[in-house]
Amino acid sequence: MDSSASPPDVVALSCPLGDAPCQFLQELQTLRQEVDLLKEQVRTDALTGLYNFRFFSDALPLEMERASRSFQPLSLIVLDIDHFKGFNDRWGHELGNRALAHIAQLIALTIRKLDFACRFGGEEFVILLPNTDLRQAVNVAERLREIIAISPLEHEQESIVITASLGVDEYRGNHSDSPEGFIERVDTWLYQAKHAGRNCVKSPVVEPADVSTTVTTEEKDALFGVFGSDK
Ligand code: GH3
Ligand code: MG
Ligand code: MG
Repeated sequence: MDSSASPPDVVALSCPLGDAPCQFLQELQTLRQEVDLLKEQVRTDALTGLYNFRFFSDALPLEMERASRSFQPLSLIVLDIDHFKGFNDRWGHELGNRALAHIAQLIALTIRKLDFACRFGGEEFVILLPNTDLRQAVNVAERLREIIAISPLEHEQESIVITASLGVDEYRGNHSDSPEGFIERVDTWLYQAKHAGRNCVKSPVVEPADVSTTVTTEEKDALFGVFGSDK
């Protein structure tokens, strides 16, 4: 991610006039803090505390460029809360807002430090996963789906179960894949997840891993015990 995504560096300010004591230093420090706060606010979604759409729109092309230059994978998850209109109708908009913050917190707790979770808009979130191939991203998406489904929103005496549908795809590292095209592809998988009944993850087929690297010696011994060796 570009340096604008990292926390602002603390730069020691010195008097612009070289005076000591400096009559402007305090004011400069206050202004610097205000600028840093505004920078933070400009890229943050106020309701959820995640990055906002503006941040994501800047970050995605930068990360795609970085991925194609470094030959590293880059994956994207789009997550959409299921039947959220019904949630609002039943529980009201205020609790709907609390539900959005609740889901955002679960996302933030589940993803890794290098991933970027953003509120794309409404009840839709995107998670950008640098240095992550499709297989790993599908695992992250499945973890997200599960943690959301098993973490109901507590409200008065009720435990309200919320579910989400997720689409996942990987950037193919070529320049014909534009940021918009990449988002559209992932959106298609989200649509498939909705179509498949919601509360699920859809992605292109993840090739099965090489069996020799996934089956341990003990597992192989056990399988020979059951089926016998062909020697
Ligand atoms: P689906 O499972 O197909 O995604 O159904 P859905 O009801 O979630 O989708 P739909 O697009 O029909 O409705 C989205 C709802 O999300 C409608 C809108 O009121 C609600 N919503 C969007 N932004 C906010 C928000 O900031 N706060 C609250 N409380 N609700 C929001
Ligand atoms: Mg929805
Ligand atoms: Mg939606």
